[in-house]
Amino acid sequence: MALIVQKYGGSSVGTIDRIRNVARKLIETKNAGNKVMAVISAMSGITDKLIALAHEVMENPPERELDVLLATGEQQSIALLCMAITDMGYKAMSFTGQQAGVCTYGSHTRGRIANIEPSRVIQALEDGYIVVCAGFQGVTSEGVIHTLGRGGSDLSAIAMAAAVNADLCQIFTDVDGVYTCDPRVVKDARKIPVLSYEEMLEMASSGSKVMQARSVEFAKKFGVVFEVRNSMNNNPGTIVQEETTAMESLAVRGVSIERNQARVTVSGITAPVPYTALILSALSEAEINVDMIVANTAHDGMARQSFTMNMNDLGAAQAALKGLLPQLGEKARLETESGLAKLSVVGVGMRSHTGVAATMFRSLADAGIATGMIATSEIRISTTVEAGDIEQAARVVHTAFHLGQENA
Ligand code: ASP
Ligand code: MG
Repeated sequence: MALIVQKYGGSSVGTIDRIRNVARKLIETKNAGNKVMAVISAMSGITDKLIALAHEVMENPPERELDVLLATGEQQSIALLCMAITDMGYKAMSFTGQQAGVCTYGSHTRGRIANIEPSRVIQALEDGYIVVCAGFQGVTSEGVIHTLGRGGSDLSAIAMAAAVNADLCQIFTDVDGVYTCDPRVVKDARKIPVLSYEEMLEMASSGSKVMQARSVEFAKKFGVVFEVRNSMNNNPGTIVQEETTAMESLAVRGVSIERNQARVTVSGITAPVPYTALILSALSEAEINVDMIVANTAHDGMARQSFTMNMNDLGAAQAALKGLLPQLGEKARLETESGLAKLSVVGVGMRSHTGVAATMFRSLADAGIATGMIATSEIRISTTVEAGDIEQAARVVHTAFHLGQENA
């Protein structure tokens, strides 16, 4: 008898009808002769609503209380789903993070999983229950409630699958899997049948919002093979697993786009070299996630440094850097540019193929699209473009790497 973990996101349990649909899927899986555990999110929109409520009460709600509040979203959905399953004549039992033995550490609203003690869950599975666990939550060894960061139910599911040594972990969502590019932007985008953890990670952190990046890191660390698939149909999804040599035959496997990017440039820097450390420390203290970094020293002896970040962080970045300018030089000043987007190509085959960057930038140039900052990893090349160019940029690059073709 196989043990299957199925994760359903907020949109998959967003209405009572959809909750019944999930109940049916779990029952089907059980009837096929398996032990079944669901890990689910709050109904879509609930977490946002709870956050908004908290901010109606006060501007900066204590994070401890925010966690207590946010954890209730998943507590609603697990109970409702168990009721739906029971109503269909099957045994179901819900588990909050604490009841499921999810032990966390770290900060409120972005807790980390220390370990899982799944004996109660395993007992319920042995007793023939369909087990429904709350995603996104756990408790510290002192019993303090933690949530795991937005999208954290993905992490809960992967961690649960590792803890109970599941035979299969399926991440059900509202798309059929991971695509070569966003199909709303690129019409001939295709579903990718198998991806490596690293490709999935690079895609998740460069704009493909299918899964939380941290959960993919966790899966890689613990070797949890998982499948991303659609909760509204029975199509096979995308399997994410350890890299294989077959994956390397293609240089590029996917194109990711990320909108809402902004750039900050500090120019006129005459301070001695540790200025990069000063700037990055100021941004990190302000909890700003810096993405691309470019530095150069101009011929007049003054250095410039540019960073990209999410547009939402632009105001905070300006505020954090303004106070620093006098230390960077008399002529140091800030320039900002918003309305940017980031285009990335990802593929493990890049390690062994040459000319990937050339093909990418040639296709953009031929389409008359200007590129800005560039960043690379071993398996990713990213560039900024004007926000208005991003869709066309995605299409020409997708075509340049033949990603839409049947044999690609
Ligand atoms: N309900 C949480 C959120 O909206 C966790 C999740 O959906 O994965 O972020
Ligand atoms: Mg999600």
